[in-house]
Amino acid sequence: MTQPSLKTSLYRGLLLKCPKCGVGRLFQGYLKRADSCPHCHESFEGVDADDGPAWLTIGVTAHIVVPLLIFLESRELLSYAAEMAVVLLATIVSALAFLPLCKGLFIAAIWSMSKKAG
Ligand SMILES: [Zn+2]
Repeated sequence: MTQPSLKTSLYRGLLLKCPKCGVGRLFQGYLKRADSCPHCHESFEGVDADDGPAWLTIGVTAHIVVPLLIFLESRELLSYAAEMAVVLLATIVSALAFLPLCKGLFIAAIWSMSKKAG
């Protein structure tokens, strides 16, 4: 099997699929990386994203929550307690939703670059 392009690998990682074949699952659970692809048996040993996904998740979440907070503050629709509840809930939901996607993206990028390096 030929090596997929970086763009293809990143897309597959974003879908939480194996960056090589795009079929097998990249994670065993919510965030635990599989040791290898259950479909093509590509090993993911040593492909660790460390703090990169958390950093990217914070950046993405901030770009959602800050405009939401500015909107709520400018309209004065809710009390401060209600605003805080809405923003806190949006932050938690956004972070939990984006963290696996960001981790899949980072693992795919690291895997792809390690394969190109030899
Ligand atoms: Zn695979």
